[in-house]
Amino acid sequence: MVNEQDMNRTIPLASPNIGEEEIKLVNEVLLSGMLVQGKFVMELEDLVAKEIGVKHAICVSNGTATLHLILLALGIGPGDEVIVPAFSYIATANVVELVGATPVFVDIEERTFNINPKLIEASVTSRTKAIIVVHEFGLSADMDQIQAIVNQYQIPLIEDAACALGAEYKTKKTGSFGIAGSFSLHPRKAITSGEGGIVTTNDDYLAEKIRVLRNHGLNYQNGKMDFIEAGFNYRMTDIQAALVIPQFKRLPEIIKKRNQLAQLYHSYIDSDSILLPFVPEGHLHTWQTFHLISSSSEQRDFLIKELNQLGIGSNYGAQCIPATTFYLEKYHCDLSKYPNAMIAFQRGLALPLYEKLDMSDIEYITYYLNQLTHVA
Ligand SMILES: *Cc1c(COP(=O)(O)O)cnc(C)c1O
Repeated sequence: MVNEQDMNRTIPLASPNIGEEEIKLVNEVLLSGMLVQGKFVMELEDLVAKEIGVKHAICVSNGTATLHLILLALGIGPGDEVIVPAFSYIATANVVELVGATPVFVDIEERTFNINPKLIEASVTSRTKAIIVVHEFGLSADMDQIQAIVNQYQIPLIEDAACALGAEYKTKKTGSFGIAGSFSLHPRKAITSGEGGIVTTNDDYLAEKIRVLRNHGLNYQNGKMDFIEAGFNYRMTDIQAALVIPQFKRLPEIIKKRNQLAQLYHSYIDSDSILLPFVPEGHLHTWQTFHLISSSSEQRDFLIKELNQLGIGSNYGAQCIPATTFYLEKYHCDLSKYPNAMIAFQRGLALPLYEKLDMSDIEYITYYLNQLTHVA
């Protein structure tokens, strides 16, 4: 168990694992003088498309730009509605606002924190132009049920797989189910390029449109350069791509390690007042976040504060988006429609989980967590 010399560890909530190989490749870019969207971005796009099992992977500047570009390329704008889960990182809804469309929130399942497929149908209207499904914390949503609904109503399915690079649903990779998938490479995710995002799609038209929009609207036709859209600069640099390529090649190992750590949490957490995360059959979880539900918001706040004071990083997991000031004031949302999102928002907390942790770190964290849950 935890002994004296173990005291005073500092364990952040997340920490990237950057090694020799990453530094060597980044150095190569720096010395080459070719810093933006070059051969390493192309290599990363090839690697990701192959691994996810899609025709196109398009690297961009972050995992919000990905979603913004997908919505624009689908032609979604003012007057349109996009269904999103009520519980996610705020960016999932913000991108709908950014294109002038209206987010329509749907509550989540209590145990998986993913959108509840049974509640989607009631939110479909003639103005519904897309649904963004989030694979929350790295666990795939229930894709059989969701695909049945989007097929029935002919709604384009977008996957916000920001946390779910490498996750699987019935052996198929997330990011390959919908018209487009979106990944983030922010340092809070399992692998990182500092900032970065990747769009995946099998749709040639969408891929081409996103490539053009990513780079100022630039298009080459018959060897001639022209600008055919008022586009963005949402490019990824080669520095970012070089940083993440070695990590991407290790991704299966990284996910395996994260699953081992999650398993240790499951066996060491011993508290009646804590609900552990649940993984249904047929899923490969990436465990981007190990997310618990405590017995009350007071207990949650107490645990986060005490753990942080002990040097153990902890924070809430994600937002009930309709309960945040912007959405509450704009749409006067009836929060009683999102009971599970409110529970996750008010009583959820995340514990440290990343590749560099080992068994003794999990012992250390859960030793204190178990003590704290017995006093609170
Ligand atoms: C991290 C995250 C994003 C945003 O990604 P960035 O790269 O930080 O822009 C979007 N959606 C979800 C679900 C996320 O977890």
